[in-house]
Amino acid sequence: MTLLININCINRVNVDLEKCTGCGECVNICPVQVYELGPNGKTNLVNAGECVGCMSCVEVCPVQCIAVREM
Ligand code: SF4
Ligand code: SF4
Repeated sequence: MTLLININCINRVNVDLEKCTGCGECVNICPVQVYELGPNGKTNLVNAGECVGCMSCVEVCPVQCIAVREM
């Protein structure tokens, strides 16, 4: 049996900033530094192209305002 795994897939990261409380959990947990806290006190996508789709940010966000989809 052959398994095909696309290691070059691009993941789309969406954050609902209306809901974001700026807790920083996504910043701390992302293994590839997709997020940083912005001057507005909310998270900011600074490296979204590096997302590996691990879903850690989706799981850790206390207000469920992050969605990650494979494109
Ligand atoms: S899914 Fe993983 S790699 Fe992608 S932004 Fe969230 S924590 Fe970072
Ligand atoms: S974990 Fe959620 S609420 Fe906290 S900073 Fe990230 S997006 Fe905002």
